Amino acid sequence: MVISAFDVAQRQFDEAAEAMNLDPAMREVLRVPQRELIANFPVRMDNGTVRVFTGFRVQHNITRGPAKGGLRYHRAINLDEVKALAMWMSWKTALMGIPFGGAKGGVICDPRHLSQNELERLTRRFATEISLLVGPHSDIPAPDVGTNAQTMAWFMDTLSMHQGFSIPAVITGKPVSVGGSEGRAEATGRGVATVTMRALDQLGIAPSEATVTVQGFGNVGSVSAMLLQRAGCKVVGVCDVEGAIWNPDGLHIPSLLDHVRTSGSVVGFPGSSAVGAHEVLIGECTVVVPAALDGQITPEVAQRMQCKLIVEGANGPTTPDADTILKERGILLVPDILANAGGVVVSYFEWVQNLQAFFWEEVDINRRLEDLMRRAYDTVHDVAVNNQVTLRQAAYSLAVDKVAQATQVRGIYP
Ligand code: NAD
Repeated sequence: MVISAFDVAQRQFDEAAEAMNLDPAMREVLRVPQRELIANFPVRMDNGTVRVFTGFRVQHNITRGPAKGGLRYHRAINLDEVKALAMWMSWKTALMGIPFGGAKGGVICDPRHLSQNELERLTRRFATEISLLVGPHSDIPAPDVGTNAQTMAWFMDTLSMHQGFSIPAVITGKPVSVGGSEGRAEATGRGVATVTMRALDQLGIAPSEATVTVQGFGNVGSVSAMLLQRAGCKVVGVCDVEGAIWNPDGLHIPSLLDHVRTSGSVVGFPGSSAVGAHEVLIGECTVVVPAALDGQITPEVAQRMQCKLIVEGANGPTTPDADTILKERGILLVPDILANAGGVVVSYFEWVQNLQAFFWEEVDINRRLEDLMRRAYDTVHDVAVNNQVTLRQAAYSLAVDKVAQATQVRGIYP
């Protein structure tokens, strides 16, 4: 049976709500998104034809502050997945203690098959469609799969043109030249690397003894691989949508990044062997970093994994039944809402810098990020140990409690 991303998100929430004995009315409120916008909009293609695209923006909860969450351009994105991703953002911002709610957006398209001009027109029109919801104090998007700093710049420019002046705080993950933050591009991977080091330490494994595989070699996967290698780990397997590569002696990540820049994929990297796509999840290694899409670690995969530690760079890579198997098999898992929170933490720093029009140095940003990640990891770890639960269950109980408390104290309008 195929279980959808939103089913997974709701099941994770229901389990947390049950464990916390959350009030039934609060469960009803928090298990669905507050707002869902679907837009079908035309875009003129380079050959003069017009195509209609479908995009989404979902705000799950905005009780603790403006909605926050990325924009995904992917051919298989749908409303259900965006709802799940929006809910995960609410828990993530709450867990990290940053004053945002949760949101997500996306457009059904394959950005690899669109020209830069088509992508720009698509982004500008999509920004206009969802400007009903988006604003520096209401809803602040960011990059996700298939979007990048350039997409954010077009988005910011479009909303600024509507107002007649620049509004950098309307979106994060922008290029530094238009108000982006130092360190934002690497922030999610830096957070992944920070919590991986913490978890390895707790498992009593030195970085030099750890081998790592990474599924997905985009923003999150490539930076995670680079920083883990710098920290002394050996990155033995990596994949992207085109295929997977392996080298038991370790892949040199800076050279692999050069190879990806010139060829567009990790495939064919000199000195590596081609392996099956699943090998990065089930091959022999110490740490697996899923950093591609959701639903990758199914019960069948979980049963075959050989690692000691999984650090969820991606959102929702593990299904609830797989979670149970990993727990039974004693494989430690650092959950997405903690592991990949570095991106939204530095997005928060970027938003604060934009509102203050005062910019911080990269060393300060990285230090604050790493401090926050370590503190969050330690808090979640302590709750997990004290309550004899998994890191995911601990993270959920902390996060859901914060959102529930804020919702409770604000009351129901009118
Ligand atoms: P990206 O578009 O930069 O990279 C995605 C990578 O995954 C690419 O290498 C792509 O080839 C690969 N991929 C896609 N489908 C695949 C498949 N079926 N099998 C193997 N590889 C596949 O995206 P990203 O920003 O790195 O995001 C990756 C994950 O991290 C997503 O789940 C996203 O929601 C999550 N995330 C991203 C950020 C961020 O700041 N960018 C923050 C938190 C979480």
